[in-house]
Amino acid sequence: MRFDLLTVVLALTLAGGPVAAQVSQGPVQQTVGSFDDKFRQFEGEDWPTPTDYRNASGAPGYRYWQQQVDYDIDVSLNEAGRSLTGVETITYTNNSPDQLGYLWLLLDQQNYRRASLAERSRTVGADTTLTVPEVLRVQRFQDWEGGFNDLKITGADGRDLTFSITDSLLRIDLPETLGTGESFSFTIAFTLPLPETRVVGGRSGYECFTREWEDGNCIFLAAQWFPRLAAYSDYEGWHNAQFLGSGEFTLEFGDYNVSITVPADHQVSATGALQNPDILTAAQRARLEQSRTADEPVYIVTPAEAAAAETSPARSGTRTWTFAAENVRDFAFASSRKFIWDAMGVEQDSIEHPVVMAMSFYPKEARPLWGAWSTKAVAHTVDVYNQFSITYPYPTAQSVNGPVGGMEYPMITFNGPRPLRGDDGSLTYTERTKAGLIGVIIHEVGHTYFPMIINSDERQWTWMDEGLNSFLQYQAEKLWDADFPARGEPRQIVEYMISENQVPVMTQSDSILQFGNNAYAKPATALNILRETIMGRDLFDRAFREYAQRWAFKRPTPYDFFRTMEESSGMDLDWFWRGWFYSTDHVDIALDNVVAVSLESIDLQERARAARARFEDEPVSRTVSNNRGIETVVEADPATRDYYNETDRFTVTASQRRDSERARTGADADRRQALSFDDNVYRFTFSNRGGLVMPVILKLNWSDGSDEIIRIPAEVWRRNSRQVTWQHVSAKTLVSAEIDPLWETADADRANNGFPQSIQPTLVPLAPQGPQSPNRMRDDDRRVTPDSLRPRAVAQ
Ligand SMILES: [Zn+2]
Repeated sequence: MRFDLLTVVLALTLAGGPVAAQVSQGPVQQTVGSFDDKFRQFEGEDWPTPTDYRNASGAPGYRYWQQQVDYDIDVSLNEAGRSLTGVETITYTNNSPDQLGYLWLLLDQQNYRRASLAERSRTVGADTTLTVPEVLRVQRFQDWEGGFNDLKITGADGRDLTFSITDSLLRIDLPETLGTGESFSFTIAFTLPLPETRVVGGRSGYECFTREWEDGNCIFLAAQWFPRLAAYSDYEGWHNAQFLGSGEFTLEFGDYNVSITVPADHQVSATGALQNPDILTAAQRARLEQSRTADEPVYIVTPAEAAAAETSPARSGTRTWTFAAENVRDFAFASSRKFIWDAMGVEQDSIEHPVVMAMSFYPKEARPLWGAWSTKAVAHTVDVYNQFSITYPYPTAQSVNGPVGGMEYPMITFNGPRPLRGDDGSLTYTERTKAGLIGVIIHEVGHTYFPMIINSDERQWTWMDEGLNSFLQYQAEKLWDADFPARGEPRQIVEYMISENQVPVMTQSDSILQFGNNAYAKPATALNILRETIMGRDLFDRAFREYAQRWAFKRPTPYDFFRTMEESSGMDLDWFWRGWFYSTDHVDIALDNVVAVSLESIDLQERARAARARFEDEPVSRTVSNNRGIETVVEADPATRDYYNETDRFTVTASQRRDSERARTGADADRRQALSFDDNVYRFTFSNRGGLVMPVILKLNWSDGSDEIIRIPAEVWRRNSRQVTWQHVSAKTLVSAEIDPLWETADADRANNGFPQSIQPTLVPLAPQGPQSPNRMRDDDRRVTPDSLRPRAVAQ
């Protein structure tokens, strides 16, 4: 309080002009201030200047453009050789205002080259362990290498085009500069060895079931399998960051026609809609039709049909499956004779796609989990994501079981979980596998929205797809089952938020530490808190939907997201992005102190009584109390007593009575009014120990047994982000108070949230004894007897 008064006085003096000279009597002594403006605006600092292409409100600008890239591809799977052979004709349309002299393409599979940037810059832990997977991977690369081979690139006239490869990027020099609005068509022939996913890892590849009890057949997952055009954007030009493994990719939208030639008895799942349904049997076509209106998944390929293919695979012959997909940014497929296929239509409010076909493809090893939940999880994802973002714009949404734990491409996802097979052949599954299966399907199908439609740059910003998608995954999981072990609850993120070795969420993908927590859980939790605690569902949902709808089939940046959330809701959230996305601070708000202030009573007698009562509550002097029983002089001799022995400092004097009467009846109406105030004023001092400014959610427990929760906005920290005092007035009497009583802000230390502080009980197990010391004799099965070692003297 005094500090504030002092400031005001000083300010008045300084404002007085020439008088200000009086403060500079010697060198100016100014300490370095510690003020940290956590509410500073990002405009003009970290956020780029808006342009005609993307405007200041976070929407595409009036001159927004993006490139169009269409593909016609013929590919065949060589099952025995575990490879693909393909020819693609690409039509590139330049919608940019720029003249292009060359094109860049992504060759993501080049990171399976031994000399790739990814392999050469691979780092390992500094410990001295060697695991079986590590050794198997090293061995595989000694005799196998991935990446595109036999590349031949020709123009529409059949003439070779000049190209060069820089690690995982391929540059084609155009014969003539490509102007605005012009198109260029060219053809690339290639072969591609597929990686064995289990051994070398990755997002695609094959898995063969070759253990003694298995049928010997394989599942093939083809992804990032053809040379794809790199993105060219208004804010970055060519997106030609190399593929290092973590940062996935971003591509251009276009139309695809893809013919996939596979062994005659394979079933194929792919991006898009099947163009030659005659490839199915009449019975299968009838089931597919029936499944469109079914309430439960319907088998298109039954377990019995898949088992028949497994036991007597076609020895020769191929079939060509043809798929078309409009306005997608990539194309993936899966192929196997092991596939069981089930499907169910999902109705939605759309003229173009009133029914989306939710479909699953899986081997018998994935039963019974996949039959029970996969297609239903796909359908549920479409329902929930449609509510939160955009109506699903494609005809199919597919979930394929194979060797990839979880990966997404437009309309098709690869998901790994299967039940456990015991040595005796028994099947079980853990609670975690069940949740993992449903969760990963929701997650990967959700990626069809983010980033396959809301086309953020994954290679740069992992959180923009993983974080936003994990947030919606959490919503979908909690709408599947309130008890679902979903990730995204504020209390779950605390351990990460206080951990060492963190980087901000706004970090380029390949440099992220603690990847899952950084790019998935933290942004998902942040958005959850933003929705439930800071913005409220109405404002958040409207803004989030606006972001999705603005940027569907377009290319948003983080700033477009941040700006849209603020512009749509009318809330300044720069402080929130700064804390959760740009810093590694955590939330820890402490309730340091509570002071209760109330006006003294205007009744002098009552005031004196209260003061005397307070005094009498104080403990008596130790000396006086130990002297008890010894008669003092004033007790023994009444003649020594006078007025002062009969009154004390609480006695109301005649002069006080006169002053009080003047105040009560005086002419100062404001003062008379103020004197009638008999509420309690509570002053709460909060300190921000974690660094992250957040709303203070304060529960007040009153003496009448009632309580209330007050939500103090984060702006309370705007003048001092470290410690503030805030006031609340009530007729009630406060007994205790608590910060964040509903555990909704990820407050890391709850021990400092209460006032008065309470004891936090901790239950610990009895500490175990240390390990036994080494005993080589015991371990070598040697023993002694009491007689086996004797003093020499006793020996005979
Ligand atoms: Zn993901």
